[in-house]
Formats: sequence, structure tokens, C-alpha cells
Amino acid sequence: MIQIDNVSKHYGSFQVLTDCTTNVQKGEVVVVCGPSGSGKSTLIKTVNGLEPFQAGRILVDGTSVGDPKTKLSQLRSRVGMVFQHFELFPHLSIVDNLTLAQRHVLGRSTDEAVAKGMGLLERVGLKAHAAKMPGQLSGGQQQRVAIARALCMDPIVMLFDEPTSALDPEMVGEVLDVMTELAQEGMTMMCVTHEMGFARRVADRVIFMDAGRIVEDRPKADFFDHPESERAQQFLARIL
Ligand code: ADP
Ligand code: MG
Repeated sequence: MIQIDNVSKHYGSFQVLTDCTTNVQKGEVVVVCGPSGSGKSTLIKTVNGLEPFQAGRILVDGTSVGDPKTKLSQLRSRVGMVFQHFELFPHLSIVDNLTLAQRHVLGRSTDEAVAKGMGLLERVGLKAHAAKMPGQLSGGQQQRVAIARALCMDPIVMLFDEPTSALDPEMVGEVLDVMTELAQEGMTMMCVTHEMGFARRVADRVIFMDAGRIVEDRPKADFFDHPESERAQQFLARIL
């Protein structure tokens, strides 16, 4: 579903990604971890064309992201992304947040978009909050709405960039629960997260990045039980 081949990116003389190669199969859940500044956000954003790269190739369901002929807006409508800071439109109600892109990007009718949005809101346990404004919801609730909003587009892949790291601790679980359900339903997911409990329970594979390189890319049990690189060993010792 996602194929990343020898991707490199630099800002001037600063190399942010060096020769990154990995792939994510349909239905697979891959957790990306590593120290701050190692390139995790940059890598995940290259997948939906939010970050250009200078070398290598990325295919999402066969579509080449870096190809100038690829319509990025079309690609992005199929690749859901949830960020650290829930980026709901603050001036729109929850239901309007859920229907805007469905209507404007997918051309769905208002009725159809509302039905879809309400169904997904119910799934994340927030149907009763449809008419509220984002500011009236807790951080955890807003992040669940952000996930529902991405799902409204019927994505073929979901990308997460530290979706729980800006939340108060008591709200982390409710967001991870939604992500876990999504994974169990067979969604293809690439998740940057430091929630190693989630990784252990839900991930198929773990990618560990350091200084712009993919240092480890292994089944989760191998990664947690026998990290190969010294860097990953140190990282795990500190985080677990
Ligand atoms: P992570 O998500 O692992 O913390 P990032 O992908 O955000 O890392 O960043 C990787 C590195 O690239 C960092 O050292 C960061 O400072 C640098 N970087 C990110 N964006 C830019 C930019 N626009 N210009 C220059 N350097 C950048
Ligand atoms: Mg980051």
C-alpha cells in the first residue's frame, strides 16, 4: 500500500532524511519511533506529499507521490492524516468539520455527508456532541473528532503523527482505543508515536529512526525483545 524507496531529503546542507526504504502492506500497522529531530514527522509527511523530497520514490497504492503529474489533492483525500495538534476548524461545528471536505472534495450531497459524519461520530463515541464547537470539547474528544473527520473520506491509509503527545494523560487512552479499533478493523496505518504499550499491542512492525535514517525496521517482538542497534537499545531503556 505504501512503498518508500531510497528517499532522501535535505534543507540546504542539512540532511533530514537519508536513503529511507520501507513499505507498508495493506492492513498492516507500522509504528515509527525514535528521538526528537530524527525525521519521523518529515518521513510520514512525505507519504501524502506534504513534504517534498529530492531523491527516491514513494508509491501509495501504486500512485507516485513525487511525480509532478500526480494530483496531490486527490491523493491526500485518500490518505487520512491526524496530527499532534488536532487541527479542527475552530469556527465550524463538529458536524460541519466532518462534512466540509466530503462535500467540497468528494462532491457528496449534504445529506450524504451528514449521514457519513454522524455514523463516524457515533463510532468514536461523540454523536451527542455534533452541534458543539471544537472549543467546547476536551483535547481527547477533539482528537477523536479529527480521526472521524479523516475517516469520512474513506481513506485507504491513515497516517498519525504523535496523535496523543499533546493530550493530558487521562485522555491518551480514549484516543489509543479508537486507533486500536481502527487497526483491528484492518486499516492500513503508519503511526509516529512514543506510546510503546500501543506499539506492543497493536503494531505489526516497528521502525526506529535516528538522524534521518531508518535504523531498524522489524516485527514488533524482535524490536522490543532484541533491538539490534545501540541507539534503539538506549531509546527503549529510557522510554520503557
Ligand atoms: P521528528 O518528527 O523526528 O522530531 P522532524 O521530521 O520534525 O523530526 O525533523 C527532522 C529534522 O529536520 C530536525 O532536525 C528539524 O529541525 C529539521 N527540520 C524540520 N523542518 C525543517 C525546515 N523547514 N527547515 C530546516 N530544517 C527542518
Ligand atoms: Mg515530529
